[in-house]
Amino acid sequence: MGADTRVDVAIQGIRLLDAPVARRAGAGPSDDGHVLLDGVGAAIPLNPRSPYTVSGGKLLLDGADTGMGVEAVARPRFYDLETADGVSYEKIARLHSSSVLATTVVQTCARYAESERCRFCAIEESLNAGATVAVKTPAQIAEVAKAAYELDGITQMVMTTGTSNGRDRGATHLARCVRAVREVLPDLPIQVQCEPPGDLQTIQDLYDAGARSIGIHVESLDEAARLAWMPGKGSVPMAEYKAAWAEAVRVFGWNQVSTYLLVGLGEDPDEMVRGAVELIEMGVYPFVVPFRPLAGTLATDVDGATAPDPRDVYKVTAQVSAALRAHGMLGADQAAGCAACGACSALGSCGSDEAAS
Ligand code: SF4
Repeated sequence: MGADTRVDVAIQGIRLLDAPVARRAGAGPSDDGHVLLDGVGAAIPLNPRSPYTVSGGKLLLDGADTGMGVEAVARPRFYDLETADGVSYEKIARLHSSSVLATTVVQTCARYAESERCRFCAIEESLNAGATVAVKTPAQIAEVAKAAYELDGITQMVMTTGTSNGRDRGATHLARCVRAVREVLPDLPIQVQCEPPGDLQTIQDLYDAGARSIGIHVESLDEAARLAWMPGKGSVPMAEYKAAWAEAVRVFGWNQVSTYLLVGLGEDPDEMVRGAVELIEMGVYPFVVPFRPLAGTLATDVDGATAPDPRDVYKVTAQVSAALRAHGMLGADQAAGCAACGACSALGSCGSDEAAS
């Protein structure tokens, strides 16, 4: 797959009328349709104004064949089920890409006041739209995971959470949910995603519950960008992130820890690459993703933010991909999670998962 086309389509999106598996809002950057580009899972913005269209399973740019195949991920069968008390399984967990089950265990965030909220985040919008429930119980999540495994063959699971007011920042409920899923599916790899917990013991607790990868997502390494885009989360000192990453690498292992880095928050691309290399050197996978201006977020609705320059996205993605390769750090080696899935990043199409020569 052409890496520059993959980057460009990740930014410009696809004019696709029918994406049976899509996420319109939710935690962090979202609003995408799940497709297979040349057979590889990709989460691509659905954009009615995109120059990319699909015809006969081919990706077209301004009507011309790009040579890339496109296939929409089919609607999973577990979406048609509901719990005994009438909650649709689709409101409890969603299919991401073709084989990842993802859930936000608590769909509210203590930082959602306008003055605190991450400006690219829409975690409570899917709740307001009635597309999900505020708190998923461990039993509900386990029930849905079992069905998704049996009916649709999911191979891994991602659990994220809105941040709570407690010292654990939401990780305790995450651990309960992991434990419940592992009781019914002992071999299903699970990644958890949370802020650095105030008490680092929580990281061990998540591992002991059965999680095998962890994402502690800083989004940007640049202090000015952190405070401008994430006034609440950006007030957590970088030292706390570094301590949490180091503890997570100790507990989960080298390359079982990851963090999102969003290109397009104003961070200097060269600085971002340098920071990503430092993360790699400490055993943390930097998952590089372009910032997406989504309806329902403050970035789009208030700030009028626009998508990043594809050249910056390509440059950072290609250089981080080369650094990952040089260090032998493969997303596919993560037990579960976004680095293992790869659909939201173009790192894979830049060759990040190819063995270094
Ligand atoms: S990379 Fe992460 S957020 Fe994106 S589709 Fe895969 S599991 Fe979901």
